[in-house]
Amino acid sequence: MEKQVTEIFGENVFDDSTMRQTLPKDVYKELRKTIDDGLPLNRKIADAVAHAMKVWALEKGVTHFTHWFQPMTGVTAEKHDSFITPAGNGKVLMEFSGKELIKGEPDASSFPSGGLRATFEARGYTAWDPTSNAFIKEGVLCIPTAFASYTGHALDKKTPLLRSMDAINTQALRILRLFGDNQTRSVKTTVGPEQEYFLVDEKYFWDRKDLVYTGRTLFGSMAPKGQEMEDHYFGTIKSRVQKFMTELDEELWKLGVTSKTEHNEVAPAQHEMAPIFTTTNLATDQNQLAMELIQRIAKKHGMVALLHEKPFDGINGSGKHNNWSISTDSGDNLLEPGDTPYENIQFLLFLAAIVKAVDEHQDLLRLSVATAGNDHRLGANEAPPAIISIFMGDELEEVIEAIRDDKDYGNHEKIFMNIGTDVLPNLPIDTTDRNRTSPFAFTGNKFEFRMPGSAQSIAGINVILNSVIADSLREIADALEAAPDFDSALHVLIQSIFQDHSRIIFNGNGYSDEWVKEAQNRGLLNLKTTPDALPYFKNEENIALFERLGVFSREEVLSRYEILMEEYVNLINIEAKTMVNMAKKEILPAVAGFEGKLADIILSKKEAMPDLPAVYETRTLEDASELTKKAYYTLEKLETDVAVLNSMSDFEEKAFFVRDHILADMEALREPCDFLEDITDAKEWPFPTYGKLLFGI
Ligand code: ADP
Ligand code: MG
Repeated sequence: MEKQVTEIFGENVFDDSTMRQTLPKDVYKELRKTIDDGLPLNRKIADAVAHAMKVWALEKGVTHFTHWFQPMTGVTAEKHDSFITPAGNGKVLMEFSGKELIKGEPDASSFPSGGLRATFEARGYTAWDPTSNAFIKEGVLCIPTAFASYTGHALDKKTPLLRSMDAINTQALRILRLFGDNQTRSVKTTVGPEQEYFLVDEKYFWDRKDLVYTGRTLFGSMAPKGQEMEDHYFGTIKSRVQKFMTELDEELWKLGVTSKTEHNEVAPAQHEMAPIFTTTNLATDQNQLAMELIQRIAKKHGMVALLHEKPFDGINGSGKHNNWSISTDSGDNLLEPGDTPYENIQFLLFLAAIVKAVDEHQDLLRLSVATAGNDHRLGANEAPPAIISIFMGDELEEVIEAIRDDKDYGNHEKIFMNIGTDVLPNLPIDTTDRNRTSPFAFTGNKFEFRMPGSAQSIAGINVILNSVIADSLREIADALEAAPDFDSALHVLIQSIFQDHSRIIFNGNGYSDEWVKEAQNRGLLNLKTTPDALPYFKNEENIALFERLGVFSREEVLSRYEILMEEYVNLINIEAKTMVNMAKKEILPAVAGFEGKLADIILSKKEAMPDLPAVYETRTLEDASELTKKAYYTLEKLETDVAVLNSMSDFEEKAFFVRDHILADMEALREPCDFLEDITDAKEWPFPTYGKLLFGI
């Protein structure tokens, strides 16, 4: 790297310091008011901002701009326009107006809307989100935007996220005011997402239809070596990976993404990227960028990045840990235990609000991570189970128990010594992260939600987290505002929440079978698959919650439910068809050829040496024939069921049919095929094996 990191960091972002440098003072001040306090922006200011952005971008050789948005596909979308405007004399000017900055009109009809637009005209518009910075990506000025229909429905992932952040802000401020805080102007949630992914050699990738079409292997027998050794790659790929990581960091830094750690994960060929946390909205945009960059830069180094949750059977899949907290505009983390007893009670109240929210809305949290890919991980002894619970750590658990049961705490102090004058012991919180098996772990000053899948946008997850916690804070604020005596009401409330909701707290091994039984005894939900979880979205009390907070309207919930169910069906439908194709056109013909060779050898051996049995050839031919038969019958069954699936029209019926039939058919077909791989001549096998993909051999 020729330039220092400090020089390149954020060089492609129209960030606060760039704004300060390039905008007239009054314009900068007005824009900050919009960014910080959500005040509307007038046209004059928008024009001035657009002009400064254009000048800044032109200096960097940029010719186009795009409204960058996040439709419900989970990936980002852009439509490029150039700055060119005819100047009237056969020449052109480079122009970019406030109007173009603020609003755009992409063709909305090609994005999923779950019926939201079907009956209306296919028109939607994108609107600038000034709380996320504009940036330059591949020579294009990208304006982060929200995407909505002209009827006012959110057609994207960003709009509800911003609404959910508003909800948290409103409710958390009510709580802070009750504690006498009149300074704090706004409260935002913060997120640091840890992103896992696999890297495979591109030359093998293109020979596997399953990877190309679905991002995961649908066949494949485990290599002799799995993830037991924790070492990565042999030979040349190692240096390629190192070069890739250096470039990835550099490119992320230029975009202002604070990529902090890059390291190898447990599984072979698996890696992780973690940025330093920032506000949820920005963290979401940056995670989308990180996923895009990981894929693009891998290609430049002759590799393909797999973001799928379960690319390989038999080794760990990939997740995305969503580290989440709430903080004030002055940077106080509300989940950080304080130095004074009073601060500690406030901390305990926020903690109680979260405990209540997670217990009451297990369904919503579970469905926020429900995808076809993630179903392979959750509960598979490599990721948290499908059961939601909270890990608190021993110290906090002791505090919570003492409050709940009115017991002494630690060195025989009462947690609440006097009603009215709070004497709360200092809370010693161990920040080490000792329980990797918990789906939702308190890690000292934040919660780490460990269930999300690696390919998911974190927008939806955080919409749910923010919403359920905002609603819990709302109920708490209602109760406390109405109470005649704040201090005593506070104590009673915290105690009753811990009494009512402590079933959700579990510090033990989340991977164990005992926990599954114990959780059932506690009455916790265990929603194993996506179609089990998603229907909870449209429960009346959940729709009411989202409407109450102004996060989703009823129509928006129903449309999202439909889109998510359809996405599940579509993904598995493609996987099933890919399996049929590979089995029919690649695996079975290759095995037939191998069988033919064996048969020839058996015959010629018999002729040459009638008394010497061809043991290897005969046994292998017998096994292969048996497995081929099995593979063929299971293939037929899968084909028939895929036809049934595709003749159905109801999306719910389809999703349940996929869960109950197609997935089992796929497993049944894979099994004999993987055994066939084990006995077939390696030279005859039609596509690269796990050994090649994971270790390069
Ligand atoms: P590890 O999980 O490896 O122990 P850390 O706990 O330091 O690492 O952080 C993991 C992620 O959590 C990082 O992305 C970090 O920026 C993020 N994080 C730390 N503090 C907060 C916070 N207050 N809010 C949100 N994310 C946070
Ligand atoms: Mg972590």
